[in-house]
Amino acid sequence: MDARARAECTRLARCVRQHCLRMTHRGRSGHVGSMLSMAEILAVLYTRVLRVDATRPDWPERDRFVLSKGHGGGAVYAVLGELGFFPMDWFQGYYRDAGRLMGHISHHVPGVEFSTGSLGHGLPVAVGMALAARNAGRAHRVVCLMSDGDCDEGSTWEAIFFAAQHHLDNLTVVVDYNRVQALGHSKDVLDLEPLARKIDDCHWAAREVDGHDVEALDEALRVLPFEKGKPSWLICHTVKGKGVSWMENTVSCHYGSVNDEQLARALAEVEGH
Ligand SMILES: [Mg+2]
Repeated sequence: MDARARAECTRLARCVRQHCLRMTHRGRSGHVGSMLSMAEILAVLYTRVLRVDATRPDWPERDRFVLSKGHGGGAVYAVLGELGFFPMDWFQGYYRDAGRLMGHISHHVPGVEFSTGSLGHGLPVAVGMALAARNAGRAHRVVCLMSDGDCDEGSTWEAIFFAAQHHLDNLTVVVDYNRVQALGHSKDVLDLEPLARKIDDCHWAAREVDGHDVEALDEALRVLPFEKGKPSWLICHTVKGKGVSWMENTVSCHYGSVNDEQLARALAEVEGH
């Protein structure tokens, strides 16, 4: 990754955090902590990995991106708006009456493939997309971004087994592994460890990376699949609420946002990050 690409990823990640703080503040909605943890992941995916075209959201050969942690949809909207999939003044209506951007991610927004919200739905659909692409002889890839909460779900594990059985190496899972979910720390709710070993044992190719290091993310995702004949699984170690000091690693930021007094301070912290 050259200096220019690194700067662009860093800039986009910062924009994602700023947009998400403003959107959730204006909409008086929650889930900002979940959005802040995946800013670098999305920045690298959308500038370095996914083959998508803002002028042709329905381009048949585009890569498919599915956000399984649909409550964090604001972060994807932030990227799509920045890339020109829709006008950025749509951000003003996030989570508000008559707005175009619903709180949980919606396929009515240009660039969004699938609506999610309840956890455990994204991967089964992504697996279907990958199987359909291969059966149709299409070269596009499918990438599913999941939370650690997603990994608790039975439907996720059924999809894991199915993808391995069918050798879907056009499928990549990226986990925003911030170790916090709606009601607690993941180790207390349902301990996933050792996650990489479990995934490897399911005949996927698993790797781990610092999910806030854009160069490490880029290097990990530059060549897909990780192993021919296996789906790829990248565990991104992240911090919930990343960039806003009083939110980092807290459970409360899952349903939280910032109040009037906190907004300026949060934006200043993100700006200096
Ligand atoms: Mg989490």
